[in-house]
Amino acid sequence: MNAEIIAVGSELLTPFRQDTNSLYLTEKLNQLGVEVLFKNIVGDSREHLAEVTRIALARAGLVILMGGLGPTEDDLTREAVADALELPLVRDEAIVEALRKRFSKRGFKFTENNSKQADIISGATVLTNRNGTAPGQWITGSYDGNEKTIILLPGPPHELKPLFEEQCLERLREHLPPAFIASRVLKVAMLGESHCDDRIAPIYRRYPNVQTTILAYAGEIEIHLRARADSLEVAQQRVDKVAEKLEDELDEYVFSRQGESLEQIVGYYLQMRNATVAVAESCTGGLIGERITSVSGSSRYFLGGAMVYSNELKHKFADVPKALIAAHGAVSRQVAAALAEGIRKRCGATWGLAVTGVAGPSGGTEEKPVGLVFHALSNGESTEVVERKFPGDRERVRWWASQQALDMLRRKMM
Ligand code: ATP
Ligand code: MG
Repeated sequence: MNAEIIAVGSELLTPFRQDTNSLYLTEKLNQLGVEVLFKNIVGDSREHLAEVTRIALARAGLVILMGGLGPTEDDLTREAVADALELPLVRDEAIVEALRKRFSKRGFKFTENNSKQADIISGATVLTNRNGTAPGQWITGSYDGNEKTIILLPGPPHELKPLFEEQCLERLREHLPPAFIASRVLKVAMLGESHCDDRIAPIYRRYPNVQTTILAYAGEIEIHLRARADSLEVAQQRVDKVAEKLEDELDEYVFSRQGESLEQIVGYYLQMRNATVAVAESCTGGLIGERITSVSGSSRYFLGGAMVYSNELKHKFADVPKALIAAHGAVSRQVAAALAEGIRKRCGATWGLAVTGVAGPSGGTEEKPVGLVFHALSNGESTEVVERKFPGDRERVRWWASQQALDMLRRKMM
């Protein structure tokens, strides 16, 4: 079955409120094997809502509307859906009574506009809302000769989620042929999106029964694989087969196979090798340390380090010779290497990791432009230095730099 989601509320058409309910619903529906084909956001207009509902009913088997079920003038979802289905609204006096009781129990005055929350589309099943006043509604019926299901849900997320889980999931399952979904996320570091896709598209195109989605971030690509089958085993096999082929192709660029973050993987390797790391950070200003320590248990392998922004502290905290900085500049291959080795020795770590660069937007020169970063990794015996020129603004350059540094460490320990 395919679904269409309609988020209702004029506030969702402003820059101040975001439709997050549809993200939640999409995840739940996907888990049931239901694909979401369209998502709409519609303001509080009865006419517009009825129009979108008609369009949705014509092309999806399941239509979910959320929001606009409350007591106020602008809550018009019930009326609009009744218009679209050409069905009457019937006031359920038992619900009005229950609302009155709820109000008096809490010491609130019951105002008459609350009664409209008890208007039920003829033939609908009422979905009790234990966290709010407006109940949801479930309608299964024929529209243009095809069976359709329409669900009306309250807008507030803390009302919608429990209501959907407790009263819709099981009902939906009964409506659907059994389908099992398996998924995998592969993560790739420091490879360009187009380059990555160029290498893997010929592979995943051969498996149309596995849905492949590529999400690109700064210095990281996520490959989401999803397959659907009559049994979980078959779905898992399908996904694993494509994952294996992609891993073969991308080889050491793949750092994570089950969705783990780069800093988690680095921590995992350090622990496995019984190794420790210390950092000397210039242009990243602590970002690498921040990322490493965001992983619980990182005290087992992260010793600490220094934020060596000034030349003075590069010398004072990481023993970089002043003459070296004078000769090559703070942003240089030589200073990066000296920082990595200096901090390693100072902290007594297995690995010393260092970054120095020009994050911008100011401070760039022809010789050392904005985005130029040197990364160094030392273990006392040898020091590796990587020079990169990153694109983007200050924030992106700093993120790229932290990503490159962590990836160097990962590759060394693989
Ligand atoms: P109420 O009884 O609270 O009026 P309602 O069903 O009429 O419920 P709305 O009035 O449309 O719902 O929305 C109430 C609040 O719920 C909004 O202010 C907003 O914070 C939240 N909300 C509504 N729709 C969404 C959505 N799609 N995603 C996230 N939050 C939402
Ligand atoms: Mg409302």
